Order: sequence, then C-alpha cells, then structure tokens
Amino acid sequence: MSRVVVEAKDLRKVYPIRRGMFREPAQLQAVGGVSFTLEEGRTLAVVGESGCGKSTLARMVSLIEKPTHGSLVLDGTDAVNPPASETRRLRQAVQLVFQNPYGSLNPRKKISAVLEAPLAINTDLKAAERAERARAMLAQVGLRPEYANRYPHMFSGGQRQRIAIARALMPGPKLVVADEPVSALDVSIQAQVLNLLADLQQELKLAYLFISHDLAVVRHIAHDVLVMYLGHVMEQGPRQKIFGRPLHPYTHALLASTPGIGGRSRKRIVLQGELPSPLHPPAGCVFSSRCPYAQEVCHAQRPLPRPVDERLVACHFADDFLVKGFPEEQEARNTAVPA
Ligand code: SF4
Repeated sequence: MSRVVVEAKDLRKVYPIRRGMFREPAQLQAVGGVSFTLEEGRTLAVVGESGCGKSTLARMVSLIEKPTHGSLVLDGTDAVNPPASETRRLRQAVQLVFQNPYGSLNPRKKISAVLEAPLAINTDLKAAERAERARAMLAQVGLRPEYANRYPHMFSGGQRQRIAIARALMPGPKLVVADEPVSALDVSIQAQVLNLLADLQQELKLAYLFISHDLAVVRHIAHDVLVMYLGHVMEQGPRQKIFGRPLHPYTHALLASTPGIGGRSRKRIVLQGELPSPLHPPAGCVFSSRCPYAQEVCHAQRPLPRPVDERLVACHFADDFLVKGFPEEQEARNTAVPA
C-alpha cells in the first residue's frame, strides 16, 4: 500500500480586509473547506479560474501560510502546529516549483550555488560532497553536470525550469507543490518538462500537488483532480471519472471550453458574467450566479460535496446529470437523426 504524504481536512483561509477606522474588517474567505489525501507517487491537480483559491491552497500546503481552520498532516506530522523539533524536517519535506523560471533563479548566483544552498543550510555535507550532489542532480533533470558553473541567463526557459526542479529536489522532498510550472513555457517545451516531472515522480516516489488552469496539461499529468470555484470544491475525484464524464456544471463548462478535450460531441459552453467577489459570494450555491442550470433551490441552499459516481460533487442535481446528462446533451440526443 502506498504511503500517505499529505492529509488535509477542511482547510480554510480567511483574510481580514480593513474597511476604515470605524468599521469591523470584512472577512474574505479565499479557501472555504478543502479536504484531500495525497499518496506518494500520485499527482493531485487543483484547477479553476484565477481567483478560485488554488494558489492560496498551494501556499497553505507548502507551509508559507497557516490555515485559519482545519488540519494538515504532512509526512506523518502535524504541519499546522508542528513540534519545534520537526519544523526543519517538514520544510525540507515540501518544496515548490514556481511558474516563472526566469524570476525564480537569482541571476547573480551560479547554478552550483543555487543547488547547493539547501544542502549548506540543512546538512553537514562538505563542500565537495555538495558539489557532487548538485552535479548528479543536474544529470537527473537532463542537464549536463558542467552547467553547474554557469549563470541562469545562459539557459533557455525550459532549461531554467529544469534547474528550478533540480533545486526543489535537492533537499529530498516527499511533496512537490508545482504552481503553474509549465504555463510560461512554449508548448513544445511543456511536454518535455511534464515528461521529466512524470519520470522523476516514478524514480523518487514523489507526491505532486499540481496547480494549473490548463486542463490539457492536467489531463496529461494528474491522477486525481480537484476543481475549485470561489474557494470551494465543486468536483473532486479520479481524473478518468472527471474528464470522462463531469457531473458538476462548472467542470462541464471548463472541459467544454478547452480545445482538444471537449471533443466534437461536447457543445462549447460560455460562462456568463465574471467570477463574483469572494467578499460577497452568492447565497446558496456559490456557482449559482453563473450556472446555466440554476433553479430556485440553488439560490437558497449551498450544496456540499457528496459522493456521486466515485467522486465528490457539490451540486443539487448531480444525480440527474449522471442519469440524464446535461440539458444540452439531452437536447442533442432528442434531435439526433436516427442512422
Ligand atoms: Fe448549478 Fe444549482 Fe448545481 Fe449549483 S447546485 S451547480 S447552481 S445546478
């Protein structure tokens, strides 16, 4: 059985927003109760439009921000209030890969210094051993060991992202939180970096929390998918289930609007309106102000994620959509000319 690397229960993040001297601060709920389990060798992709809370979730899981509520167990240890003796180990156990490989490497430092820094801080290795590890890591991410003596500006975008991945792996993490790691790269380079991430995951049994708005990329790399909207989970489960047959109208719309994924049978759905402000979320279902299938109950009662067809779905009508399909699919069936 695979080992659990991350166990998150009901994670929430609320930011107080000041509204002047005489008014109480408003409460902005960026993440409103997310739970998941992530095992070694598995990838959980978190998807949604910008502003949906996925980056806040990533910051909580990577220990940059403390949750306002909920529990987070990382590599067997409470990561919300860790014992002092475990803090350093936890910080090594989770590492980040950022979106922008240009901005995430210090231009004044040689690659050797970038890669060796975590070892200098966290281990007792001698300089020669650190240098050897850095060169071996460069080879592991598909770069020449002698590149250790070069500066970041001497590399292409794809090579820099390989270096950023190497730096993340130097402390020997169990979990890598990758925040849009290929979205700044050319499409041809994206596939190479995704393949590298998949190979490293197999070799090192890494768990990935993969933040992305690009469903084509998510389909390539994820084992499980968590769809977020306005800080809440809309649908969560195995990739095959969610990509094969989404049951939440928001997932359905996201997939239908992604070229190459929607397929010819899936009618393009244009979501009306903007993402509502998290300071003033709609009453009832948070997606109700943009959902083409909203009914009266949707504006009154907030649906919680519940099990439907081997995944969790936060929609009052998920069972109907499972049995009958979405309304436009029913319509297409009814108007189809028999062969
Ligand atoms: Fe749409 Fe209602 Fe389902 Fe929310 S509960 S997604 S508004 S149908």
